[in-house]
Amino acid sequence: MMQKVTVLGATGSIGLNTLDVIRDNPERFSVFALTANTQVKLLAKLCAEFKPEYAVVLVDSAAIQLQSLLKAQNLKTVVLCGEQALIDVVEDQNVDTVMAAIVGAAGLRPCLAAAKSGKRILLANKESLVMSGQLFLQEVKDNQATLLPVDSEHNAIFQSLPLDYQSNYLQQKVEDFGVSQIVLTGSGGPFRTTPLELLSAKSADEACAHPNWDMGRKISVDSATMMNKGLEFIEACYLFSVTPDFIDVLIHPQSVIHSMVRYIDGSVVAQMGQPDMRTPIAHTLGFPDRIKSSVSAYDFTQGGDFTFNAPCEQRYPNLYLAKQAFNLGQESTTTLNAANEVAVDAFLQGKIAFTDIASLNADVLAAITLAKAHSIDDILAIDNESRSLTQSLISKRY
Ligand code: NDP
Repeated sequence: MMQKVTVLGATGSIGLNTLDVIRDNPERFSVFALTANTQVKLLAKLCAEFKPEYAVVLVDSAAIQLQSLLKAQNLKTVVLCGEQALIDVVEDQNVDTVMAAIVGAAGLRPCLAAAKSGKRILLANKESLVMSGQLFLQEVKDNQATLLPVDSEHNAIFQSLPLDYQSNYLQQKVEDFGVSQIVLTGSGGPFRTTPLELLSAKSADEACAHPNWDMGRKISVDSATMMNKGLEFIEACYLFSVTPDFIDVLIHPQSVIHSMVRYIDGSVVAQMGQPDMRTPIAHTLGFPDRIKSSVSAYDFTQGGDFTFNAPCEQRYPNLYLAKQAFNLGQESTTTLNAANEVAVDAFLQGKIAFTDIASLNADVLAAITLAKAHSIDDILAIDNESRSLTQSLISKRY
């Protein structure tokens, strides 16, 4: 059956890869809505190709520009504007599937709307789980939504777990399926072998030059600091309902094994492939079927050796901060995520050094006092407060 898809964050790295997979499978998918923030010309181009019913941007000036670009091409796509419009194109009864690929905390409310309206959610926006794991998953369960992980590591773990578990995984325990450990792999980023004393001088462009993956700038910096692995660690604890000691993190610089699952009989099941997000995207779009993507199969005769080692705390303090925050609860993971978003943005703008990101994150986490969050509004209030504190530390120090 034809699935109608809303792509949130259509102009981003995940959004464009999603549209690439949809382009390869026109008999299975049609696009209901596309959304973007600033890249209006690119959004207009995507509208011309995919002919969605709606296109959403956030501010009036972008909406006016988009409208005139679409009119010039005689396109019938209706332009909507603002945060409520993001929610409307998720909740619409004609929508089957939502690709949640807005970057950062801005993706939280639309993801939650997708959960509340019982959609099939393809989750790239890891912040939804990091900030509101308990609340978000409860909404998914209460409203019989389907949640499929797009993040390559979680998608790999999901694929390495038994089919019986996959079919109803949010209601089941991995331990009941003979699983003894989840192994989360990460490349270690572009500074894996850089002498520690040189890290503070690394530029934004150097941090964004990921050795294997082609991603947005924010997540690329997070890969270099391994905050990305930290956020994924939190995401994995929530998604697979496991405690931190159930997850082992390993550096695997070749990024061919995307993660693994250990079983009690000594077996290890791994998911492998090219480091190309179109594979996990195609897996979630087609699930439980396999569908085409333009990614070629990994050629073992051409690749080099596979290596593994444990991440070192001195090089990757953010990974350890994330573990600490998870143990403190979703309020602390919200704070860490917010502090990190502000710090990474300051780094990308050249205001702070690469190594300042982790020290700011640690200082904000230690300084803030958090009340228990009972709702998304509470979470967003913590997010705001944490951002202000990080911003004020940056203004004072740099
Ligand atoms: P990008 O920065 O490439 O794209 C982000 C998208 O979100 C763009 O469409 C952007 O619009 C839109 N956007 C940005 N800010 C807002 C806002 N305030 N409100 C609404 N829309 C906004 O990010 P990625 O595609 O790299 O990442 C998206 C999500 O997927 C992140 O959560 C990331 O952690 C996760 N992820 C990404 C992976 C990757 O390989 N890239 C891998 C696994 C997970 P515009 O372009 O117009 O600015």
